[in-house]
Amino acid sequence: MTDLAQTITGMDLWRLALPVVSRRDHGIGSVEGSCEIIVLRLTAEGGAEGFGEASPWSVFTGTPEAAYAALNRYLRPLVVGRKVSDRAAIMEDCRYAVAHCTEAKAALESALLDLEGRISGLPVWALLGGLARATIPLSVSLANPDFDQDVELLGRLRDDGVRLVKLKTGFSDAAFDVMRLERLRNDFPEISVRVDFNQGLQPGEAMVRVRDVDSFAPDFIEQPVRAHHFDLMAELRAMTKSPLLADESVFGPEDMARAAKEKIADGVSVKIMKSGGLIRGQTVARMAVANGMTAYGGDMFEAGLAHLAGAHMIAATPEISLGCEFYQATYYLREDILESPFPVANGAVIVPERPGLGIRPDLAKLDHYAVEGSAQ
Ligand code: MG
Repeated sequence: MTDLAQTITGMDLWRLALPVVSRRDHGIGSVEGSCEIIVLRLTAEGGAEGFGEASPWSVFTGTPEAAYAALNRYLRPLVVGRKVSDRAAIMEDCRYAVAHCTEAKAALESALLDLEGRISGLPVWALLGGLARATIPLSVSLANPDFDQDVELLGRLRDDGVRLVKLKTGFSDAAFDVMRLERLRNDFPEISVRVDFNQGLQPGEAMVRVRDVDSFAPDFIEQPVRAHHFDLMAELRAMTKSPLLADESVFGPEDMARAAKEKIADGVSVKIMKSGGLIRGQTVARMAVANGMTAYGGDMFEAGLAHLAGAHMIAATPEISLGCEFYQATYYLREDILESPFPVANGAVIVPERPGLGIRPDLAKLDHYAVEGSAQ
């Protein structure tokens, strides 16, 4: 029996509420107080453990209650009792066992890969095809309705070597967006700016509001209108000088196929919480590039465990060339859940080299922040 022929004997879950440092507004909704995630632990018969995180957002991907139930009730019987080596078969079985719940499937695949990596002594990026890059440029999103607080944060980011920010627009009036872009260009010229509307614009105003932002020539303009407005996305893409990025319009490879066919964007934000796993995220990125588009490493309101999974995916996916936004563990959560800090230095994520995801969650923190769980 090879080591990977071990049976998966345990699945434990924690639903956590993690306090955050400030309110944040986005086109589709706000976050205040805390964000909720699910942490999953798989245990193999030899005692090895693998961890994964589901990071839902109710207005975007789904609810924490649904992600928890998907894992606890519907996916558990398809995982416990299977072999560690059966990762691809397990993920295929889980894909159709419960509709949607892509965050739950991402957590499961992360935990399977972490477990496989820890048993085999390989980092997750090695299991995903090998290393394309050892560091990933980090973008930090600015979404505080009190812009003075974001200016304070910008000073800290500049000191830390961060050179990419993404301004969340479209949650207030056009003047507020233009004022903030002018301040960024004038006061922080060394920092590159991306813009994300998070679907916040109505069809009747989208052309004018996007044109305003386009005049600042940001690196890209992300998802100005609702996810299902493919026609309008294509019109905006044809109009803008800056590249247009699709985020909410593209979850998995199936959406990506339609997005490429209908030419709705110049690039796509790839998120494991949307695609339903790391492998499907890689597929989205490869389809994008094969169709002449670019790919960016997006995320949800995540803790460090999900950041690690995303970092390993991007490390092994040369097509994801626009950096990443794994900033919440460092700049947004009051306290992250990992045993040691999510690795960021000089404005970049440092890809871990240790087996599995490289860092474990701190079990005491999981118990401290748990609001529901099967492991207590
Ligand atoms: Mg976005």
